Parts: sequence; C-alpha cells; structure tokens
Amino acid sequence: MRGLYIGRFQPFHLGHQAVLERIALEADEIIVGIGSAQASHTTSNPFTAGERLAMISGALRKLGKWFYIIPLPDLERNAVWVAHVRSMLPPFDLVYSSNPLVIQLFSEAGIEVRKPPLFRREVYSGTAIREMMMAGDDWRALVPPGVVSVIEEVGGVERLRNISQGDRPF
Ligand code: NAD
Repeated sequence: MRGLYIGRFQPFHLGHQAVLERIALEADEIIVGIGSAQASHTTSNPFTAGERLAMISGALRKLGKWFYIIPLPDLERNAVWVAHVRSMLPPFDLVYSSNPLVIQLFSEAGIEVRKPPLFRREVYSGTAIREMMMAGDDWRALVPPGVVSVIEEVGGVERLRNISQGDRPF
C-alpha cells in the first residue's frame, strides 16, 4: 500500500514526524507531497520547496521505508486540484491529512482519507514555530535535529525576521 501525506511543512516539525511514524506502520511506501511548492520568503511560507525537501528527507530516511518527496505547486482551481496532484505523483491508495479542504477534495474524488491524531498541536504547529522564530524564542526543541541544521544552513531565522520587518521606522 502506498500512502500519501500532503503538507506545507513550514517548517517540518515533530507533529509531522509523529504522523509519518504512524503512516509507516500502515504503508509499504510513503509519498510526501510538498504543498504550496511555489511559495517561499513570506512570513507564512518562509522556506523554499527544496529546503523543505531537505528537512523531510532526513526524517523519512530513518523510517526505513521506500519514499518519494514531490513538490506540488498550488492551483487557482480547487475543483481540479486532485487531478493535478495525481498527475504529479506515483499512484497512491490512501491519503493522510487533517486539513479540512484536503479531506473534502480527496473524498469528493472517491479517494480514502485517514485523519491521523494531532500530536501536541498547541506547540507542534508551523504557525507557533514561525512566531517563536520571529520573537527570538527557542524553537529548536519542536523540530527534529536535522531540521535545525537545514534552517541554520540557509539562515532561515534571519530570513524570517528580515521579511517580517515593516518598512517604516516607527
Ligand atoms: P501543514 O504543513 O500545516 O500540515 C500538514 C499536515 O500535518 C496536515 O494534515 C496537518 O493537519 C497535520 N499536522 C500539523 N500539525 C500537526 C500535529 N501537531 N500533529 C499531527 N498532525 C499535524 O500543511 P497544510 O496546510 O495542511 O497543507 C496542505 C497543502 O495542500 C497546502 O500547501 C495547500 O496549499 C495545498 N492545497 C492546495 C490546493 C490548491 O492548490 N487548489 C487545494 C487544497 C490544498
């Protein structure tokens, strides 16, 4: 069975990792679709698709399963998004997501969706981690060590702080 996990992973955190560990118990092969692949250098989407791919590949390698990581640019048209996703990925049997729109679109297309439990969502949250980075708080314990390395390698915290500054002095 080939399972698909789709997310933006801005950044990839320990909640995402817990979901992948759960998927690895059920799936023979794992596909990770990096959503909003076109987006980067914004406060909601600071990291490029390639940077996110580097974050995720370390975690997947440890699971000992065959895996694929595929960037998926967004489409303006939700109604044809599932066809777009299918056109970009190897065939898959199941989708794992807790995102209501993702669940709705795959369900309408007749594809089974499993909703993994949320792991400490109040702290394992991309939004919370990005806010901690901007505030200068310590976010490192909320992501796998390999993700800390990628973020440091690309100057991710400095990037996020720079792009979140207003252009007025007061
Ligand atoms: P995300 O990185 O926020 O989350 C990925 C998955 O992990 C989600 O299912 C989320 O519920 C889950 N998750 C997050 N924190 C968790 C935790 N602590 N414990 C357990 N699970 C946790 O990504 P997302 O926003 O869900 O990604 C969906 C992607 O699909 C986006 O890139 C979106 O743009 C794309 N999309 C595109 C279209 C289109 O282009 N028309 C339509 C639908 C979706």
